[in-house]
Amino acid sequence: MHLSNLKTMYRTHTCGELRLDHKGQQVTLSGWVQRIRDLGAVIFVDLRDRYGITQLAFYDDNPDLMQQARHLGREFVIQAQGQVVERESKNPKLPTGDIEIRVDKLRILNASKVPPFTIEDQTDGGEEIRARFRYLDIRRNPLKNNLIFRSQVTQAVRNYLTEQGFIDIETPYLIKSTPEGARDFVVPSRLHPGQFYALPQSPQTFKQLLMVAGMDKYMQIVKCFRDEDLRADRQPEFTQIDCEMSFVEQEDILRTFEGLLQHLLKQFHGIEPQAFPRMSYAEAMERYGSDKPDIRFGMKLGDITSLVKDKDFKVFAANEYTAGIAVPGAAGYSRKQIDEITKWVQRPQVGAKGLVWVKYNEDGSFKSSVDKFFGEDDFRLWSEKTNARPGDLMLILSGPKDATQKQLGVLRMEMANRLGLRKPDEFAPLWVTDFPLLEWDEETGRYHAMHHPFTSPKPEDIHLLDTDPGRVRANAYDLVLNGNEIGGGSIRIHDRDLQKKMFRLLGFSDEEAQRQFGFLMNAFEYGAPPHGGIALGLDRLVAILAGEESIRDFIAFPKNNAGRDVMIDAPDRISDEQLKELHLKLDLDDED
Ligand code: ASP
Repeated sequence: MHLSNLKTMYRTHTCGELRLDHKGQQVTLSGWVQRIRDLGAVIFVDLRDRYGITQLAFYDDNPDLMQQARHLGREFVIQAQGQVVERESKNPKLPTGDIEIRVDKLRILNASKVPPFTIEDQTDGGEEIRARFRYLDIRRNPLKNNLIFRSQVTQAVRNYLTEQGFIDIETPYLIKSTPEGARDFVVPSRLHPGQFYALPQSPQTFKQLLMVAGMDKYMQIVKCFRDEDLRADRQPEFTQIDCEMSFVEQEDILRTFEGLLQHLLKQFHGIEPQAFPRMSYAEAMERYGSDKPDIRFGMKLGDITSLVKDKDFKVFAANEYTAGIAVPGAAGYSRKQIDEITKWVQRPQVGAKGLVWVKYNEDGSFKSSVDKFFGEDDFRLWSEKTNARPGDLMLILSGPKDATQKQLGVLRMEMANRLGLRKPDEFAPLWVTDFPLLEWDEETGRYHAMHHPFTSPKPEDIHLLDTDPGRVRANAYDLVLNGNEIGGGSIRIHDRDLQKKMFRLLGFSDEEAQRQFGFLMNAFEYGAPPHGGIALGLDRLVAILAGEESIRDFIAFPKNNAGRDVMIDAPDRISDEQLKELHLKLDLDDED
């Protein structure tokens, strides 16, 4: 950025710009009053703008001006003119700390009420009040810097993708429903009574149509909307880096987007990771109990099912699957600590029935909650499976395979968090591939598309579609970074008949499929190229690249945990007039 671009009618320089080199110059600055120190013979004012802080000084050789300065308050917007002078006591912590402005003209551009919290890096404001006054919170460095960082990441993403030949194309926000697993937000149509638009969960069908249209490589940094049940750190509207490519196989997409993440890691952290590891979904579940494993630390799942099947301990013997993790250095945990972990895994959010523990003591002996049923020989075998070493604590869960793997995966992450094993400045990306195409939903008694209905099965598994659909693997992949899914995509179906079959498997009648997706299936009859794509969650990607967890801190105006914007107070009621106009409320006269 050229600082000269920042010169305006209101200022010659920014508050972050002046150094000793500028000594003697006459300058004009504009900004907010951060702090005022009245020492009697001199008043110091810290003036802040986006670029930094500069000290203004008012001396008693100009009593009128000093009087004026005494009327200033925190967060007043002012313009000050004066000479750059060398400071007597320099502030090495500030880039402008060698100088101050000896003010000879002061103009108050706008007064300010006393802000509801201090606008400093460490503030006294609680979350709720800061959310209500988000514009004041953004004046603080932490949020301001996050937004600047986000802008830099976005720019870098655009640069990389443009370089790769992607074309940025906008797709509409007022569309009809795209089934991607969540509920749609809908918008009632005034002009078409009883009809509704839906906000896109993603531009999925449009980007596929752009491939049919021959655009070859599409990208868009785009808002997506999903009316999901609220989960911590989820936003009903969020931003994706959405991409689609023609004439590609999975390998081409993995290479292109591995390149994107490598580009970002290099630019923002100076690291150049090797080719990303790849892991099948089955392997990820088997070893990490998660389809988005954090591979920065071990604690892999050790399957001991076959070792406990024929033993006296009925719980293990009866269950489909028994496995454990070795928590490093935790053999010394007290009874109380272990009880607390047991309660933790029994919470409904985790859902384990109980927990078996085995201490592998430093002296090589074992102590466990199942000493009645198992002995040293057993524990030694278990420790081999879980990679436990003397000093570790084995935590064992047992139950149905899928559920138990997931519970262990959650426990593994929890223990890693507690032990500080998830280092924010370490980056471990990987691809998870070969996802199942379909997922059985107990509630509805049908299959759901695990990724979305447009995902193509692996050609070698297509024959299973009729006989054993649950075993069909998809040409789908996720990009995972530090235990977070930061992107996902697939090679698409581009054949009308296969797409039709897929809709049938998902329980759509041909008529329903035609009504909802006719536009796409019809397009497939006009020369659809093989194509595939991916979408990366920008909010989370930025947060992780900044070494943070919460995406809310990287969104200028986010919703809170209840899905509300507490600043503008949305959602909100609308007037009867509006409701009537939208045909959502009958006119009272009509009701008669
Ligand atoms: N539309 C998908 C999603 O939002 C991504 C993709 O398949 O490209 O997850």
